[in-house]
Amino acid sequence: MSNYDVKDFALREDLIDELKEFQDKFIFPQHDKKPVIYFTGNSLGLQPRSTRDAVLAELEDWGKYGVEGHFMASSPWFSYHEWFHQPAAKLVGALPGEVVVMNQLTSNLHFLMVSFYRPSPNRYKILTEAKAFPSDRYAVVSQIKFHGFDPKDALIEIAPREGKHTIDEEDINEAIALHGESLAMVFIGGVNYYSGQVFNMASITSWAHQVGAIAGFDLAHAAGNIELHLHDWQVDFAAWCSYKYLNSGPGGVAGAFVHQKHAHASHLPRFAGWWGHDKDRRFLMEPDFVPIGGAEGWQVSNAPVLSMAAHKASLEIFEQAGMQKLSKKGKKLSGYLMRLLDVLNEKHGMPFEIITPREEHRRGCQVSILVKKNGRQVFEKLTARGIIADWREPDVIRVAPVPLYNSFGDVYAFYEALDAILSD
Ligand SMILES: *Cc1c(COP(=O)(O)O)cnc(C)c1O
Repeated sequence: MSNYDVKDFALREDLIDELKEFQDKFIFPQHDKKPVIYFTGNSLGLQPRSTRDAVLAELEDWGKYGVEGHFMASSPWFSYHEWFHQPAAKLVGALPGEVVVMNQLTSNLHFLMVSFYRPSPNRYKILTEAKAFPSDRYAVVSQIKFHGFDPKDALIEIAPREGKHTIDEEDINEAIALHGESLAMVFIGGVNYYSGQVFNMASITSWAHQVGAIAGFDLAHAAGNIELHLHDWQVDFAAWCSYKYLNSGPGGVAGAFVHQKHAHASHLPRFAGWWGHDKDRRFLMEPDFVPIGGAEGWQVSNAPVLSMAAHKASLEIFEQAGMQKLSKKGKKLSGYLMRLLDVLNEKHGMPFEIITPREEHRRGCQVSILVKKNGRQVFEKLTARGIIADWREPDVIRVAPVPLYNSFGDVYAFYEALDAILSD
């Protein structure tokens, strides 16, 4: 591929890009008085221009109505979370009653595991991916210990095979079958945060169910990145955060999914709070808890409206763009980036290894690049040129060209910058 061809591809793709106009909906940090090229939407998404007004509107209503805002605000706070059922359901492929926006990601995982990790003396193991995001591992290990089991025995971690960076799904499935009836739960990140590997959640769920285990997923790197069909896949529970691909601000309110088949399972233990109580009777302040049917019944506290206002502004953008188009463009961007990295690898004597899977169904928009020599320096030189990527010790640069605000031209600019850095 000649240099002309690679550049021409970017120009052409940007011209015909249906999502091009969305870039203007976001605020870019500046570097040398120019907007940066921002490839860290997988870590903290950019701020939509509409967010400020959305948050200010709630502050305004609070000022205007005080406590009456619960019912008088333009979006009454009492039922604020209900707006999210439809858009959040579309995002993860769920029925509206299967999702709720509440708390934060790791908190949601704990609340959901209270209901869905119910170990018994014979069935108590949790199977997960090795090198999961630390918070997930902490959560799972602490749940195991909370129930009086020993993680050494109860935690099964599936690692990539020797010399590989991604996990063979066969190994997951085989391990599920092997541990069989001792397995209580399979819990995996739908998209691995480090390698960008996308797991076949439908298949893993089906393997888990065959041995009678629950299947749960952390969708921090999946929600807003790839298309999901949690309902059809029969996933039991899932949770995700809103501040990565979903652009809802640092520490923003999170999401949770509970499959319809569990929605009314009143025998499931849960940690209850008043916001999960029968809505018609919430303010009667009765002593006994009656859960709302569906995911809403897992709510504990009243809605953090300021954070939810930012989330609402962002999901309005997702509603306009549509997940199908976004996912398609995200994969195309990362595919293009991989091709350009191949060109550089050839030209500069193989300085990288791409650890993200090549196949379209096994990745989203993130590409993880293992830099064989001086990775940290390469990363810092990119930053100095106004290209914001993400560094993971000891040797990986994660680059996420996100479909809402990155262009093919951005990917080309990354390639040019990297070419110059390697030629130094
Ligand atoms: C980002 C991320 C988290 C962060 O958890 P919070 O509770 O939102 O702080 C947890 N797990 C995974 C897989 C993540 O990618």
